Amino acid sequence: MADREIEQRAEQLRSEIAEHNRRYYELDEPTVSDAEYDELVRQLSAIEEEFPELITPDSPTQRVSGAPVTTVFAPVTHAVPMMSLDNVFGEDELQAWVERLHRRLAGTPAASDDESSDEVGYVCELKIDGLAISIRYEQGRYVRAATRGDGRTGEDVTENVRTIGQIPERLGGDAPPVVEVRGEIYMALSAFAALNERQVAAGLRPFVNPRNAAAGALRQKDPRITAERELALWSYQLGQVEGGPAFTSHHETLDWLGSLGFPVNPEIRRVSGPAEVLDLCVHWQQHRHDLDYEIDGVVIKVDDLARQHRLGFTSKAPRWAIAYKFPPEERTTRLNDIMVSIGRTGRATPYAVLEPVFVGGVTVSQATLHNEDQVRAKDVRPGDKVVVRRAGDVIPEVLGAVVAERPAGTEPWQFPTECPCPLRSTLVRPEGEAEHRCINPECPFQRQGAIEHFASRGALDIDALGEKRIAQLIDAGMVASVADLYELDWDKVTQLERMGETSAANLRASIEASRDKPLPRLLVGLNIRHLGPAGAEALASAFGTLDRIRAASVDELAAADGVGTIIAESVHTWFADPANRELVERLRAAGLNFEAPAGDGQPKVLAGKTVVVTGTLEGFSRDEAEAAIKARGGKSPGSVSKKTTAMVVGDSPGAAKVTKAEALGVPVLDEAGFRELLETGELLG
Ligand code: NAD
Repeated sequence: MADREIEQRAEQLRSEIAEHNRRYYELDEPTVSDAEYDELVRQLSAIEEEFPELITPDSPTQRVSGAPVTTVFAPVTHAVPMMSLDNVFGEDELQAWVERLHRRLAGTPAASDDESSDEVGYVCELKIDGLAISIRYEQGRYVRAATRGDGRTGEDVTENVRTIGQIPERLGGDAPPVVEVRGEIYMALSAFAALNERQVAAGLRPFVNPRNAAAGALRQKDPRITAERELALWSYQLGQVEGGPAFTSHHETLDWLGSLGFPVNPEIRRVSGPAEVLDLCVHWQQHRHDLDYEIDGVVIKVDDLARQHRLGFTSKAPRWAIAYKFPPEERTTRLNDIMVSIGRTGRATPYAVLEPVFVGGVTVSQATLHNEDQVRAKDVRPGDKVVVRRAGDVIPEVLGAVVAERPAGTEPWQFPTECPCPLRSTLVRPEGEAEHRCINPECPFQRQGAIEHFASRGALDIDALGEKRIAQLIDAGMVASVADLYELDWDKVTQLERMGETSAANLRASIEASRDKPLPRLLVGLNIRHLGPAGAEALASAFGTLDRIRAASVDELAAADGVGTIIAESVHTWFADPANRELVERLRAAGLNFEAPAGDGQPKVLAGKTVVVTGTLEGFSRDEAEAAIKARGGKSPGSVSKKTTAMVVGDSPGAAKVTKAEALGVPVLDEAGFRELLETGELLG
């Protein structure tokens, strides 16, 4: 017998769950994450399992959760109830479900020999994280769409659902008199990102996740707003059907839905046994982020409809289906503070200091907040309960605050005006930019970042030079810039605390080795804004040496394949700064490698230049002429523009090209001029 305390706990869980249901289904404003909600339901189930006398008919474990909001939407009685799904977490629970299913099937008489065979076939579907919908057609015409509500009575959202372009207004000629199509309304991630951009631009709070945004969009009073929100549908089930073809399997019903013009998810698979089911579940758990919509699990359904019929339903969910749920990626936790970190280029990034929370497989205690505008849009404040997400390999993110539980007296967060470093320099946000920066080049935080970056794997890979060593060298006044690394007084270094002969020798060898690293890595290490490994490779291969990159104009830099104007301008500005020029000279004196590997051996005299060839040349085929230009770092497109450096004209040239070149003032070369250009990079005359 359950004692009073357990009974009270069950009571309390039920009322908490009821409140969460109200917030989630009726207000579209949950205050806990799905994982926390699921945990409450599991606690209640565990109590009810042990003490079945505590089960009440209205327990959330016994009925479909949610209630239609009939003050806003007209009620719709579902001809066939819309059920929930039971769920399992992990392999063992899945296996237990399969065994229960087999036992049940063994205990109920089969309708045919075929069906009694041991092999139970399944259909595995993605569990789309959206809202269930029932769409009704009579005589082939769209007549009604309703939400799930409490499973028996839903909300009439006919006009809202009509705005979803994928949903046919009429079905083809042989549609039966009544068809109800069941499926999931969802918002694609791309539509969600676009919607949130619009929200922020309009000064409105962004939506926390696509499910929430879809729920809000579907349950609008004004269908025009729904229409703007780009909802979509995956259909996966039939409700009431009168007439129409007779089916023996679930997958046939899906094929039929597809033939009627409803979107059926292309990832749905028929599988023959639990091992294959598990493989698919594991596959989707790993690949859930390859999709443009969110899924929170895999739904496994018994394929054979006669078996489905024999298995039947509990008061809440079919026994012939189960949801294999993935580990949660969102949790709520307390935002203890908002602090600012200073990056290697002086960028000041606000980040959340969180009450540690286990989410997406790791414990998260910090998360980036990107910039001032993001904090303002999300309006997260120290003290708030916030939703934290960590999805796959993506860095943790704070999605928003649970405003309903905001402590009294909090104020919107203000970006600090001072750098957190000991110099307390001013932070500025340049006009038109989203980011604040610390503009004091002496800032020790920037120095630390710049040296860490220089020593990192993607740059000069000085592995003996870790974060702590760098801080130690900076504190000792031995290093302020990366060039200092090559001028260290090793006797003094050896005397540093926690250093010793061996560590010093390792550090020295590791710094020595960095002198020979390829040019692109040095370019990355220089810490030029916007210049990453791909841009550095592109510049090194187009120009061949650091000096040519330094001497190039913005246009020439931008003309290199894979380098845009933003990188070109940033590189040019960087080299124009006298402090950076001095740094380059010190690195040259230290013997760092300033040359790209010889490659084809051609000097890159045409780097940043564009040469168009038209007509037949004597000494070159068209391909050879283009190859000669590219081998020297140039480009050879088919058409002339005002950026063209020169046009080479052979016999029978394209008349239109010549006219255009002349009109744009592009120099025209004959073959001799072309040879000279290949040789020297200069135009004759
Ligand atoms: P459920 O969402 O776990 O499963 C049932 C639903 O899955 C169906 O109604 C349907 O909408 C959907 N579904 C998606 N793809 C499907 C497919 N291929 N085939 C069939 N159905 C598919 O169960 P539920 O009863 O709807 O809701 C419970 C869940 O809702 C909780 O586990 C939690 O995640 C969330 N919830 C959260 C809160 C909160 O406060 N955060 C409150 C209530 C509910």
